[in-house]
Amino acid sequence: MQIYGSLTALQIPIPYPMKTVTVLLDRPADGPVTLVDTAIYTPEAEAALAEGLGAAGLGWGDIERVIVTHHHPDHYGMAGLIQERSGASVQMLDVEIGRSERYWHQWDAWLPGHIKHLRDHGAPEALIETVEPDGRRGLARVRPAKQVEALREGARLPLAGLEWEVMWLPGHSDGHLGLWNAGESLLIAGDAVLPRVSPNVSLYAYSRPDPLGDYLLTLGKLSALDPARAVVGHFGPLMTGVQERARDLRTHHHGRLDFIAAEVAREPRTAYELSLAMFPRNLSDGSRRAAMAETLAHAEHLHLLGQLGRTWEARGWVYHP
Ligand SMILES: [Zn+2]
Ligand SMILES: [Zn+2]
Repeated sequence: MQIYGSLTALQIPIPYPMKTVTVLLDRPADGPVTLVDTAIYTPEAEAALAEGLGAAGLGWGDIERVIVTHHHPDHYGMAGLIQERSGASVQMLDVEIGRSERYWHQWDAWLPGHIKHLRDHGAPEALIETVEPDGRRGLARVRPAKQVEALREGARLPLAGLEWEVMWLPGHSDGHLGLWNAGESLLIAGDAVLPRVSPNVSLYAYSRPDPLGDYLLTLGKLSALDPARAVVGHFGPLMTGVQERARDLRTHHHGRLDFIAAEVAREPRTAYELSLAMFPRNLSDGSRRAAMAETLAHAEHLHLLGQLGRTWEARGWVYHP
């Protein structure tokens, strides 16, 4: 699907409920052949991306630049593969490079801290036991880039014959990148805003201390920007009504904050215990850990605002009024 001029969107299959991820391909008359995001590293995604390139008369070796919105496997997964095959420059926001390295290059060194963090917030041992095998399966779906160049917030770069401003849109990930062209009122948004689902906002051992606070500021930025159109990572490639969606997402998170505050007032609990109230359905271990990280982002936001206390007890950090 054509987005603007030489910029087109491919929908690449991913083994997640969202089904596909958007990969942008730019083949300008004058400028580097560029991908924005790469999709996950699975045989299906690799074949679909090869087909998309082929339809544009391109092969792997023709890619000169890869811009990655954030380090999650469905966006970053093939960055290393593409770099190995083409020598392309892989570029990410400066803040995100460290997150990506810690996660994909130093996973073994980082794992004990991750496990301690889960345990400290009340995760039971049965939920801890599957962290390592689940994590190793995830690692197999990412081929990380050996060299990544840093982009800085406010920098300008060319794409599809236009000049774009690099934006920092943290929350869903610490160094989430957006690209903004004011003339076209077009935002390349990745997962910073999505139709249909609320982008997950999670607190992990390696996150900035208040990802939800970051995300609420990002929603304010998106609201103020009021793009006519946004290219989104899932359920797109294009969405309109970003300002209204940003307001709805803010209301959604405020509702969750109220829920947590009310639950804690009823009975002080760990983030894990609160996650059972916020997400009461039976979940797989991976989804339960994600639910816990999302709950923790909300509880910790209230704690950092001084609206909830937190004390250390035998079962971990317990939030109280
Ligand atoms: Zn993501
Ligand atoms: Zn995604």
